[in-house]
Amino acid sequence: MDLYEHQARELFAAHGIVVPRAEITDSPERARVIARRLGGRAVVKAQVKTGGRGKAGGVALAADPAGAEAEARRILGMDIKGHTVGTVMLAQPVDIESEFYVSYVLDRATGGFLAVASAEGGTEIEEVAALRPDAVARVPVDPAEGMTTASAARLAQAAGLPPTTVDVLVRLWEVLVREDALLVEVNPLVRTARGDIVALDGKVTLDDNALFRQTRWGGERPAPEDPLEAAAARKGLHYVKLDGEVGVIGNGAGLVMSTLDVVAGRGARPADFLDIGGGASAQVMADGLAVVLADPAVTCVLVNVFGGITACDAVADGIVRALDAVRPTKPLVVRLDGNNAARGRAVLDARAHPLVHQATTMDGAAAQAARLATAA
Ligand code: GDP
Ligand code: MN
Repeated sequence: MDLYEHQARELFAAHGIVVPRAEITDSPERARVIARRLGGRAVVKAQVKTGGRGKAGGVALAADPAGAEAEARRILGMDIKGHTVGTVMLAQPVDIESEFYVSYVLDRATGGFLAVASAEGGTEIEEVAALRPDAVARVPVDPAEGMTTASAARLAQAAGLPPTTVDVLVRLWEVLVREDALLVEVNPLVRTARGDIVALDGKVTLDDNALFRQTRWGGERPAPEDPLEAAAARKGLHYVKLDGEVGVIGNGAGLVMSTLDVVAGRGARPADFLDIGGGASAQVMADGLAVVLADPAVTCVLVNVFGGITACDAVADGIVRALDAVRPTKPLVVRLDGNNAARGRAVLDARAHPLVHQATTMDGAAAQAARLATAA
């Protein structure tokens, strides 16, 4: 789960990192009141879960409370890269002397943590890295050791950050670890005219699998943002949207993952992962098929079930129920094997739906599905 800037700074402050005084609101009139409380001048900042707000006009310096109200009115409702601004944050302006970049991220490629830091903060780090790769330090972090004062000092040195940033570098690591984050990023981390080190912007991505123990966020996994994933979650289905065209349904995560591989091996791309689970009922099968068929990218569906606790005739009943309820226009390849396979196949034979093709082996089913998907 990505956090808003104002939530990220809440975490920073809780771990002793200095952030400017700020408040959020969804009303221009309240923005004026807040600006007055902050001393008159205020930075008005769109709260959206995307970067580059400054460039898009979503960050503005207001000289007085009336200006803050006007900027809030302009920014609220704005569209930034497809995100509509519903909230603005008003922050006490900081006199910036230098802008730095620092982030810690879980690096899946190496299976470790990576610290990225640069003395050229403020703009997007990808641009700095592309133009002047030497200006960006990338240092692996030993997860057992973490970011100690010594390793933070080495990081600061490598990136050309002043020694006064070391304390913040250590505290930011504490944020990553204690708050179960996969990413923490501060851009810019600034040195003020007075020499203080202040986090002026923050991005934090939390590990959804740890949210149960992070009571600050309600202890719940957020609803998926993909509409198909959200629909599947409401029906209690284990569904992940993928990029291809063959809708894949199976029972058991291992079998479904193998089915994805076999589909890919036949030159097609899976459109999803959907595990109807062990002991799935006809209703679960019908719900699953409805979700997969609702995906406009799907041109063919492959149902691969090996009946163990799940009886194949229950799966076949679910398919028949879904055929009547959803009225598909795309072909289905069904491979039933294991518990009650003969009865399941007989149910489908009896229904004799023109779009349903039965296959006896997993590989044969994948080959047929790949053929039908690309023919569509
Ligand atoms: P982003 O564009 O979404 O990354 O938003 P930021 O919060 O990073 O703000 C963009 C830029 O606005 C920063 O890099 C700063 O240059 C500037 N900015 C933000 N807050 C202040 C502030 O308090 N004082 C000054 N002088 N500039 C600020
Ligand atoms: Mn920024």
